[in-house]
Amino acid sequence: MATRPHVCFDRILPRELFRPQATRPGRPGRVRAISPIGKAWMNGSTLHVRFIGGSAAQRAKAQEQAGWWTAVANLSLVFDNTPGAEIRISFDANDGAWSYVGTDCRDIPLNEATMNLGFLDGGTSAHEWGHALGLAHEHQNPAGGIQWNEPVVIREMAKSPNFWDAETTRHNILQRYRADQVNGTSFDPKSVMLYFFPADWTTNGIGTEANETLSAVDKQFIAGAKMYPKTAPTVDTATPLTVNARQRTAAAIGQFGEEDLFRFTVAQAGPHIVDTRGPSDVVMKLFGPDQPTRLIAEDDDSGYATNAKIAADLLPGDYWVQVRHYNRDSGVGDYSVKVRRA
Ligand SMILES: [Zn+2]
Repeated sequence: MATRPHVCFDRILPRELFRPQATRPGRPGRVRAISPIGKAWMNGSTLHVRFIGGSAAQRAKAQEQAGWWTAVANLSLVFDNTPGAEIRISFDANDGAWSYVGTDCRDIPLNEATMNLGFLDGGTSAHEWGHALGLAHEHQNPAGGIQWNEPVVIREMAKSPNFWDAETTRHNILQRYRADQVNGTSFDPKSVMLYFFPADWTTNGIGTEANETLSAVDKQFIAGAKMYPKTAPTVDTATPLTVNARQRTAAAIGQFGEEDLFRFTVAQAGPHIVDTRGPSDVVMKLFGPDQPTRLIAEDDDSGYATNAKIAADLLPGDYWVQVRHYNRDSGVGDYSVKVRRA
């Protein structure tokens, strides 16, 4: 019996950890499942995948469980082993199971794996794909729900096959994300992003089940407004903006979770500001230059009221602005967007 679970850790770029981002107090928990802020790929992206080693059976399993996510998310995965693939998967049995989170994969040298599937039991590869698409660990959800028996967890993780020291176990299991590091707060006990662990790892005797498929909440979240909704526009249908246009560009949100996409070109390097105005609560992301999968910044409420505002030094090139309706309670309606040199 597997009393000592395989525990994955989401690899975090040392220079980043999770980008700290201010959030407003008193606006908790609008969605469930959790995603580190700013690590989602642009909605509608096509990501290429390259396998580094692995048997035909291992590769097939990795690909099959990736399909669980792309069946519901507005994201395509192409398994073409192209050298420049965003996702590179190795199968080193001595290196556990892990993945970098979302767009962090872009910062890993192309000859290195961004995901390792050292074991493939149950929903392991679905779990690692969740990381690759930008999801965090449910067991580190800031809303908690797990009362760890810390000495037991530290003792068990120090054994084979993990051999973690106490500090590593604290980082990978016991520490929760801060609420301002992640999108979403309610705990989902059925999430595939929650690892199985036995009841004696907790002080209240409540362990978790081995969640081997995507939960209803996992599917809802990955296809929802914060991640990859299918009803949204794509890179090719972006509305053009002009830097320093005399008038703001009018747009409208017709329904909850709707997303608009804009595109502009920077001719001269320098500080720029992109902002929205209007009664709708929107989240804005800025991507570029020239690569629509490269996220520069994300903002929720830095602008006026619940409007979004991003200030950034931009090099010459093409940029994309993604504006997504966020809060069902604030209603939908008209808004405007503008980009200007600061
Ligand atoms: Zn994990």
